[in-house]
Amino acid sequence: MPRLFRRIKEIRGFIKDIKCGGNNVSVGFVPTMGYLHEGHLELIRLSKLQNDLTVVSIYVNPLQFGEGEDLDRYPRDLDRDLALCEEAGVDVVFAPDDEEMYPEHPNVKIEIPGLTDRLEGLYRPGHFNGVAIVVLKLFNIVQPNKAYFGEKDYQQLKVVERLVKDLAIPVETIPVPTVREKDGLACSSRNVYLSPEERQSASSIYRSFLLAQKLFQSGNTDAETLKQAIREFLLKHPHVRKIDYVEITDENLNPVNEVKEGDRILVAVFVGNTRLIDNWRISHEKV
Ligand code: AMP
Repeated sequence: MPRLFRRIKEIRGFIKDIKCGGNNVSVGFVPTMGYLHEGHLELIRLSKLQNDLTVVSIYVNPLQFGEGEDLDRYPRDLDRDLALCEEAGVDVVFAPDDEEMYPEHPNVKIEIPGLTDRLEGLYRPGHFNGVAIVVLKLFNIVQPNKAYFGEKDYQQLKVVERLVKDLAIPVETIPVPTVREKDGLACSSRNVYLSPEERQSASSIYRSFLLAQKLFQSGNTDAETLKQAIREFLLKHPHVRKIDYVEITDENLNPVNEVKEGDRILVAVFVGNTRLIDNWRISHEKV
């Protein structure tokens, strides 16, 4: 079983002792909100390959949820997560409660104009402020050498990379490609919300990326045309209820008019009542 810590002071003490041992132990860190799936496990596998010690945090961070969002019903099962962590060879799990993480509501605000106010930031005001606070706080607690973030949450990855750069945080962020189910749906803890029929429609997100990529590969580089094709394709599916955005940007999330290799498609889609996000790197490669 991994060592389970509930208290900041205790995990700090543990990490300090390990690092003070003088044998240069490298710590890999995988921050999660739990209800682990293959995507999380891929981050863990990479951390285990690249570090002596792997720490996983499991904490559903209330600060990054807006009013009316799914904070209360977000899936939680610590015993299941601990069993998966054990199987994956995780050394330490940090699972604080709200009282431990936020004895007082944090009053700091973190914004990166041009980054946290677009896409997810527009539709979920305050979301990235919450993400930034929890990630920085967890970095300060765990003091990892490397931290692992999925490309599934591409904008979040870019926000964390920018924070690390702007604030000279001594953590190396490692991006991990999106892990998908057999039919292309990106693994997500929120997929458990989907009914079987919705689950089927949800794979249209992946198929819309392939459609856009095919258009691109046949010479169509107009972003508006590709976005329109994606929207039309998605809305043909019975349970795709609403699209928050379909955007095409360069790798730094600046919108583009002419699409080129390496640009990203980013979407947020309601399938039934479940809001799913996903993204895709456009390339000339055959899938
Ligand atoms: P979450 O528990 O959803 O906050 O995710 C924790 C970490 O796992 C984040 O860095 C996510 O980007 C990453 N992650 C979530 N889903 C996937 C996936 N399907 N493939 C790769 N990484 C993922």
